[in-house]
Amino acid sequence: MHKESLTAVCKGAVLTSVRSALDPAVHRRVLRPTAKVLPGHARAHNRSLLLQVLFRDGPHSRADLARASGLTRVTVSDLISDLLQEGLVAELGTRNETRVGKPATLVGLDQEAALIVSLDLSSDRGPTGAVVDLSGEVQTRQSRRWDGRSRERALEPLLAFARDLIDTATKPILGVGVGTPGVVDPDGVVLDAPNLGWSHFPLAARLSAGLDLPVHVANDANAAALAEHSFGGAGDAALLAVMVGQGVGAGLLLDGALVGGHRYAAGEIGHVVVDERGPQCACGLVGCLETALAVPLLRERLEGRSPAETRRLLAAAGRRLGIALAPVVSTLNLGEVVLNGPPDLLDGPLIQAAERTVRQRTLPLIAEHLDLRLSALGADAVLLGAAVLVLSGQLGVA
Ligand SMILES: [Zn+2]
Repeated sequence: MHKESLTAVCKGAVLTSVRSALDPAVHRRVLRPTAKVLPGHARAHNRSLLLQVLFRDGPHSRADLARASGLTRVTVSDLISDLLQEGLVAELGTRNETRVGKPATLVGLDQEAALIVSLDLSSDRGPTGAVVDLSGEVQTRQSRRWDGRSRERALEPLLAFARDLIDTATKPILGVGVGTPGVVDPDGVVLDAPNLGWSHFPLAARLSAGLDLPVHVANDANAAALAEHSFGGAGDAALLAVMVGQGVGAGLLLDGALVGGHRYAAGEIGHVVVDERGPQCACGLVGCLETALAVPLLRERLEGRSPAETRRLLAAAGRRLGIALAPVVSTLNLGEVVLNGPPDLLDGPLIQAAERTVRQRTLPLIAEHLDLRLSALGADAVLLGAAVLVLSGQLGVA
């Protein structure tokens, strides 16, 4: 398959959930379309509709695809013939139908047709990268160390890292996805990332020019929220994914769509004041959630403490988290809050105290139906979310 033909595929009109598309036992959900379909884009839209059905529900006959998508048989056959030529779908043999007539040929997504390169910039130590297949399986995973973080110095090492990952790939690369700290606009410009020293940095454009591939960039917590939706077993309820690392951030999915906010900074929960007598925060405020919860600060506070003191301090941090979460949970009637970060800190007294605090501060109607839990994706959440960016941006599925 040619790289060009893959990259020509529909630009993000429709998003769906994808996970082992050939395994019908896996539950999938649909992300709400976030782009309007223009008349001239009808073919790309229809194509993405078919890909979406194949991603979500596994192999179909052409007739079943027509029924599932609402398109005519002629349109389906035409589009499938293109997709077969590009190698994105494959014919998978015939199915014996109970109906009279000749057996139907099944077509399904070829999970091995292409690969995705994902980069996670959320650690202060350096970037983590992975090669991910179309079903979200991580094939290789590598880490690098930063040796200078200003934007000019960070770009070259990032390009070199991405090229190394691309070189390990045995299939065409569909695109590159990046989850980065900071506020990111829809064009992949990092508007502000103090930890990386980036301001108005066109990361997607610069990487794309250097790699000659489509590149999609989003905030790391937003990527984690997408990963939770597509690969983490999240339901259809409004979801907040909270990233606890160097800082504290969150990504928000409402009605199946990522919420960007007025200036693309939705989910910036880390600098909400939770303790007016708390420590000074790097942002200039006092007692931000980040001063209670950021991993380096929390580890420092726990150094040399007895098990009982450790439990008490973790519970105190959890209570601060609950104080910050309660108004958000209540205002948006969230169904799920998923925590990403080191389980040795988050699991146990911390998450229990957070849940207790949210319950104390919200209506039973809301709190009783809230699922507050640790992410099952572990350290891969941002990498998988970066892959979702590419799936949705290049194929219109995710
Ligand atoms: Zn702050």
